[in-house]
Amino acid sequence: MKLLCGQELAGQISLLYHEMETAYDRVAAQLGLTCEGCPDNCCDSFFLHHTYVEWSYLWRGFSELPPDTQKKILFRAEDYEQKCQTTLSAGERPQVMCPLNEAGRCVLYKYRLMVCRTHGVPAAMTRPDGKRLQFPGCFRCQDIVKKNCADVQQVPVMDRTGLLRQLVLLEQQFLSGRRHLAPRVKMTIAAMLMSGPPSVVDCSDRK
Ligand code: SF4
Ligand code: SF4
Repeated sequence: MKLLCGQELAGQISLLYHEMETAYDRVAAQLGLTCEGCPDNCCDSFFLHHTYVEWSYLWRGFSELPPDTQKKILFRAEDYEQKCQTTLSAGERPQVMCPLNEAGRCVLYKYRLMVCRTHGVPAAMTRPDGKRLQFPGCFRCQDIVKKNCADVQQVPVMDRTGLLRQLVLLEQQFLSGRRHLAPRVKMTIAAMLMSGPPSVVDCSDRK
C-alpha cells in the first residue's frame, strides 16, 4: 500500500518547512546572500534524501499536478537517474538538473525537501552522539564570508539541530513509531518520484 501523508501531518510539515525558511532567511540577510543573479543553480547538485515523510509530502504536491506535467517530469526523472547512475559508476559525483526544475524554477517549490531549503548559508548541527558538524555554505556564500567576516566566530550560522529533531519526530509519526523497523531511505528526488509514494506497510514485519 502506497502512503500519502494526511492533512494534519501535511500541515505540520508545512509549518516546519516555514520555520526552516525563516531560519535560512535570517542568516542569508545577515550575510547579504541572495540567489539573485547567481551564475550557479543548485538544483543540479547531487543530494540524497532520507525521510519517508518528506518523500510522501513531495508526492502530495506531485499528485496535484496535471497528468501531462506529471508525465513530463517522470520522463525527465528517468533520464536523470540514468545519467546519475552512469556518472556514479565512473566514480564521479553527478551534476544533473533536478527533474522538478523547469526554466530555473522549482515546479514543486512549496513541497521541496529540507536539503533544498537549507543549502546555501553556513550551517551547523549537533549529532545525537554530541559531535558538532559545520557546513560552510555554497561557493557564493563562502566568498561573502571571506570578504566580510574577519572573525570566523562571528559568522552567522543556521543551526539545523532543532529542525532535524522536529523532522525525526514527524518521521516517527508518519511511520507510527516504527521508524527503527523501516528500511533506510537513501534516494534522489527523481527516484522518489519514479517509485510512487512510499510504501511502508510491511515495516512492522521486519526484524
Ligand atoms: S544557494 Fe548559493 S550557489 Fe546556490 S543559487 Fe543560491 S547563491 Fe547560488
Ligand atoms: S526539488 Fe525543487 S528546489 Fe529541490 S532540487 Fe529539485 S527543483 Fe531544486
